[in-house]
Order: sequence, then C-alpha cells, then structure tokens
Amino acid sequence: LVGADGSIHPTIFAEMSALAARTGAINLGQGFPDEDGPAEVLDAARAAIADGANQYPPGRGIPDLLSAIAEHQERFYGLRIDPAREALVTAGATEALAATLLALLDAPGDEVVVFEPYYDSYAAVAALAGARLVTVPLRWPDFQPDLDLLRAAVSDRTRVILVNDPHNPTGAVFDADVRGEVVRLAERHDAVIVTDEVYEHLVFDEAHVPIATLPGAWERTLTISSGGKTFSTTGWKIGWITGPAPLIDAVLAVKQFLTYVNGSPFQPAIATGLRLPDAFFRGIAQTLRDKRDLLGGGLRAAGFDVSTPAGSYFTVADARRLGATDAATFCRGLPDRAGVVAIPLTAFATPERRADYATLVRFAACKRMDVLEEAASRLAQLA
Ligand code: GLN
Repeated sequence: LVGADGSIHPTIFAEMSALAARTGAINLGQGFPDEDGPAEVLDAARAAIADGANQYPPGRGIPDLLSAIAEHQERFYGLRIDPAREALVTAGATEALAATLLALLDAPGDEVVVFEPYYDSYAAVAALAGARLVTVPLRWPDFQPDLDLLRAAVSDRTRVILVNDPHNPTGAVFDADVRGEVVRLAERHDAVIVTDEVYEHLVFDEAHVPIATLPGAWERTLTISSGGKTFSTTGWKIGWITGPAPLIDAVLAVKQFLTYVNGSPFQPAIATGLRLPDAFFRGIAQTLRDKRDLLGGGLRAAGFDVSTPAGSYFTVADARRLGATDAATFCRGLPDRAGVVAIPLTAFATPERRADYATLVRFAACKRMDVLEEAASRLAQLA
C-alpha cells in the first residue's frame, strides 16, 4: 500500500469542514473564501459556456489563457516566457504539484526537500511518486528556516527542492537569503526547484518575489500558481505551471494521464482575471491584510499568542496559554467551547516532528469581515 507511512489518508480539511457543518461552527479551518470574486471573471465563465466552450480544450490549455499567463508573468515579475512552450494549464495547483513530482521523481532513493510544516498534498504526492521527503523545520514564531539545516538537508540525492512562498500553513514570506540559498543549493546539487506560489498576490507588506526571477534560477525552476486564491474561485481548479520547455514537456507527459485537460469555460474566465488592472491585485492584498488584523486582534483578545503572517490566507496562533497541550484535541473541542473550527498545525507535519507544533493552530482569515467579527466575539469566551 502506498503511503503505509500514513501520508495517504482522509485530509484534515475534509474532517474539519464536516465538523463545521455538523456543529454549525464558523469554519476558519479550510482555506476558501466565503464571497465571490470579481464579476468580470464570473461573467466571462458564463459567457464562455453560452459560447459553446464546453468540449475538451487543448492539452496545454487554451492559447488565450497561456498568453494571459505570460502577460501576467511579464507585468508583475518582468519574466518573458513563450506561452506556447513554457506554460501549462492544470487542474489547480494540486494537479500541478502531482504531475510535477510524478514527472521529476523517478529513481528509487530520489529525495524531495521541503520546509515543514507543509501543505498536506506534498507528502502524499511524494509518497505516490515513491520518493523520500526530507524536511527542514520552520519554527514559531517567525517560521524562517535555519539556513544551516537547509544546507544539511540538500545533497546529491535531492532531485527537487519544493518551496511554498507565501507559505501555507504558517503565512511566512521567506527572506531573500532563503530564496538565494535555495537557488545556490539547487545549482550545486543539480536539483530542480518547484515553487508553489498560489498566494503570490496575497502578500501584505512587500512585492512578491518569484524564485524563478533570481539569477541562475529560471532554467531549473517550475513555478506553480492557481486562479483559486487570486480570484476567489477555489472550486474551478484552474492552475498553471511556468518554466523551461523541457521541464514543462515532462510534466505535460504525466498530466495527460491524470486529467488530460481541464475546465474549458473556466480557462477564458481566468484569462480575464489575469488581465485585470493592477488596482484589483493591490485591492485583494489590502482587504486580506485588514482581515488578518481583525482576526489577529480577536485571537490575542481570546488569549492566544499570535504569529503575524506576511502573506497567505492563514494566521498561526499558540493555544498554550488557553490550556492546550495537543492542538488536534484542542481543535476537535473548539466548536463546543467557542463555535469556531480551526486546523491543528500538526496536520501539516511529519509524525516525528509533531511535538514541535503541539499547541499551534491555523486559522483562515479569508472570510467576510462580519464573519470574522462574529468569530472573534465567540472566541472571546475562551479568555
Ligand atoms: N488550501 C486550502 C487550505 O489549506 C484548502 C485545501 C483543501 O481543501 N485541500 O485550507
């Protein structure tokens, strides 16, 4: 059985969303917005269905979306890519990650280096690919890696260094020296950098820097993103990968046999989104920053210690002062105690390292202001 180590199991998101549905608690667990995204994007999907965009699109994605992805990479990051050869549309970032790791990890003993805690699909897909996960811990409260530990984790067995920036579940945005070290190590050990940047537009204080823009990085980097977070369309599952043509071709070879193609009416709609004016992208970061501040204030008032995230949907809080000794038990009891659902950070850690995150809890801020206010007033009962 693949994943006998426990990496293939019902996801924590399914368990916690079911708990929210059963108890009527406010779901600050699974990261999805509770409001629709831009009307232009929604309208474009309806128009595409009416126009007959309802059959298999091309395997790499429709040319208009591939062009919009290339325009986006140039507008925000100055990266000039060939849309026909250096971009690929996928079924969300989830399929992008799966196809990429399945394509790159082929030899027994191949290793994937990843920061821990990590988004849960990383360990599951590494297990499906038969690879070994080598983790580098991120520690409360700033969640920046120790570069010596990173250097110690990467070796000639490392096939992939998998980075997620901004980071789920911690909300960290990695420092420039972390990005630089990832590129140096990948060059030294001839590894491929896979970078999951689904929260690229949800960075609060500075501009997002894709690793692919660093000197020497492009030719060995696959950059993954998704329309789900940026346009509040997590159910559409339109993601993409950009990178050098030979790596993209390798991923496409696998992707053909996972989903073949994806969401024909959603592709032109996401193209419309990627072409929205700069003000839209600034606006979503500012709105989420306000939500982060509201949620953080509520958590502090309730008695949590809070790590202020620099990006992403998420805020990590320490429930130790509220008597927690095991975050999973604390989260399972939270609907009864306070009418709120959250996710234990241990769900994003390997069994050996769960103790390091034993009292840490992830809350999602991507909810309406009135919902966050209600959650904050419910959580105040804990204080
Ligand atoms: N990315 C979201 C989260 O971390 C949702 C993930 C999921 O449901 N698989 O909460």
